[in-house]
Amino acid sequence: MITVEQAVRVFKTQDGEVAALDGVDLQVEKGEFFVLLGPSGSGKTTLLRCVAGLETPDAGEIHLGSRLVFSAKQRIVVPPEQRRIGMVFQSYAIWPHMTVFENIALPLMEGKMKIPKAAVKDRVHWALSLVGLEGLDTRPAPLLSGGQQQRVALARALAVEPDVLLMDEPLSNLDARLREEVRSELKALVKQVGVTVLYVTHDQDEAMDLADRTAVMHLGKILQVGSAEELYTLPGEPRVAQFFGAMNWVHGKLEGHGVAQTPIGPVRVDGADSLGAGTAVMLGIRPEDVELLPLSEAAQENSFLGQVVSQTFAGDHRTYTVMVGDQRLVVHRASLEMLEGQVRVRIPRDKVRCFPEGDDGPPAAQATVT
Ligand code: ADP
Ligand code: MG
Repeated sequence: MITVEQAVRVFKTQDGEVAALDGVDLQVEKGEFFVLLGPSGSGKTTLLRCVAGLETPDAGEIHLGSRLVFSAKQRIVVPPEQRRIGMVFQSYAIWPHMTVFENIALPLMEGKMKIPKAAVKDRVHWALSLVGLEGLDTRPAPLLSGGQQQRVALARALAVEPDVLLMDEPLSNLDARLREEVRSELKALVKQVGVTVLYVTHDQDEAMDLADRTAVMHLGKILQVGSAEELYTLPGEPRVAQFFGAMNWVHGKLEGHGVAQTPIGPVRVDGADSLGAGTAVMLGIRPEDVELLPLSEAAQENSFLGQVVSQTFAGDHRTYTVMVGDQRLVVHRASLEMLEGQVRVRIPRDKVRCFPEGDDGPPAAQATVT
């Protein structure tokens, strides 16, 4: 449905050039809920705006369905209003001097759309019922709550019956509880309507909840595309692992035979066969994959002596900070029985993700002090 090929967008700034998009390829299927996830400045908004036609790439091609809407080579730039898209932004961007009805009706009566008046009324009421705002047509827009304003923005985007719905952090101005409420409405709604969605967020939880597939972006590039489960369990590189869930990082050097020498001692790892002996590596271990056992348990493979330095109760699990020598590990333990003092720390070898140490060093860490 959406195909982006080798999109490049370079901005000239006072400090030089910034490649907001650095050769991006993207393929979104019809009816898919596709999320662009990445830290601030990674190029998410720029990519969305290029698909919308609000930004013109310096190179590349963009198809919407079978239509070529942008080609740098062929000098084709289809304007936004002819791309059959709906858009929702972080700021609600609804017109304050109009009623709810007028806000939704206006795009239907302008330009290419221009549908008959009677049909406009039906369409507005249909869109309002989709977002659960029936009966609010005559309400002046400024008298709505933030959540209602964002629902109006969504109704307006859907009323034009777009092929593609583009959303840029649409929930981030809502407070936490409302955000979850609107999020689950949105999820149900787009499945009901069957529209293809390209959705920008920096929030991993949103991506996990909403996306059929997610692309993780960093510095103008897409690092990896996959389902939440694929990105979480099989991250292709440390930055993906780090951005999609918390990770403990242990640095080391591979010896032969699947063993890494690290500050906590030798760690046996699976799946490092493609990396030669002597390779500097980073071992990534999810907090829920580290096992904490009482000292009375016998030592096993990959078990180390550790010292609990703190723990917090998190309802359905406890989160521990454990020192193994100078290495800090964050551990989620499902058992609510509290461990204190010296413990045995076990790291199952099949749970260790082994990455070659990159030139750009370790990712900025959440769960990490090494
Ligand atoms: P994100 O939405 O992921 O936070 P953006 O697409 O907004 O990222 O920005 C990507 C990069 O491009 C950033 O470094 C940003 O500063 C730069 N950038 C975006 N728009 C412009 C612009 N109009 N002029 C100059 N630099 C820009
Ligand atoms: Mg942005």
